[in-house]
Amino acid sequence: MTPRHLYVHVPFCRRRCVYCDFSIAVRRTIPVGHYLAALAAELARVGRPADLATVYLGGGTPSLLGAAGVAALAAIVGARPGLEEFTIEANPEDVTAEAVRAWVRAGVNRLSLGAQSFDERVLEWMHRSHGAAAIGEAVARARHAGIANVSLDLIFALPDALDRRLEDDLDRVLALDPAHISLYGLTVEEHTPLGRRVARGALAHASEERYEAEYLLIHERLAAAGYAFYEVSNAARPGAEAVHNRAYWRLAPYLGLGPSAHSFDGASRWWNEPAYARWHAKLSRGDAPVAGREILAPAQQRLEARYLGLRTAEGIVLDEPLEPALAAAVSAWVAAGWAEVDAPRLRLTPRGWLRLDELATFL
Ligand code: SF4
Repeated sequence: MTPRHLYVHVPFCRRRCVYCDFSIAVRRTIPVGHYLAALAAELARVGRPADLATVYLGGGTPSLLGAAGVAALAAIVGARPGLEEFTIEANPEDVTAEAVRAWVRAGVNRLSLGAQSFDERVLEWMHRSHGAAAIGEAVARARHAGIANVSLDLIFALPDALDRRLEDDLDRVLALDPAHISLYGLTVEEHTPLGRRVARGALAHASEERYEAEYLLIHERLAAAGYAFYEVSNAARPGAEAVHNRAYWRLAPYLGLGPSAHSFDGASRWWNEPAYARWHAKLSRGDAPVAGREILAPAQQRLEARYLGLRTAEGIVLDEPLEPALAAAVSAWVAAGWAEVDAPRLRLTPRGWLRLDELATFL
């Protein structure tokens, strides 16, 4: 199947956030030309998708490529104005008037801002590179340049010791009226600065109760403000749901370029070398930068489709008649307020999404 969705991983960050375990390359000076040359080589190997619907520049921090770098990247991959969706992830301080105008000229029509919080103390603790004021300024510049579809990332479940005031952050998010909001519940990964602090007992991560209470509070506040959660971690104004991410959840084929990027052709999945240097070296030698590959057996595809479906507000269609064990489980979930059944469709509620992994094991 020909992919209509393209993901490009831009691995550079100026510094590492305290919780981050993504595949990144921390650089003071961004090697734009070095990166783009390898990206062009990778695309030449796999072929440029003929009929792109969406392009997503993720990272890392794609906005560090700057005005000219993003325009050059768009030209390489064949992105242009008029795509159904062309998203760039950005750190707020990179959204200058000049840069965002150039991105729009290159076809960008959606901006995903890594806001996370508006509390200077929290931003500093997270080791983010931006201050609170930069978020509102970035939103205003994006809108002025013609990007109406702005998404804000919001983090929750921070360690209790930080005493983060989520209500205040929600007020600040809603005051900016973004079209889309993505949630990130902090998880403590072992090989991160945060993981090391937690391991040596210097900090405790948020309790399960706090995680649950904050997740439900966010649902309540966003629903009251007219947002609909169309996926476990994503809420949008009607019509502003992310087309690119929806393609993942519907198991549509997609192509991924750049270090650590994954690709899927409808039956198999493969992924690139995660380290920038290794990805680049393989391409420079004329080799494929692929690190691994798996073929999804029909049963595995069915399981993934069900898991991904449960993540979304659409839910899944249950095959009737249900096996007795599943029928009993579904009845228990409905009684507990974790799911709703609108036969033959099963959908999880926000309380059910909190238990998504556990519930999915029954499928
Ligand atoms: S900006 Fe994003 S990718 Fe970069 S270090 Fe922070 S969390 Fe990780």
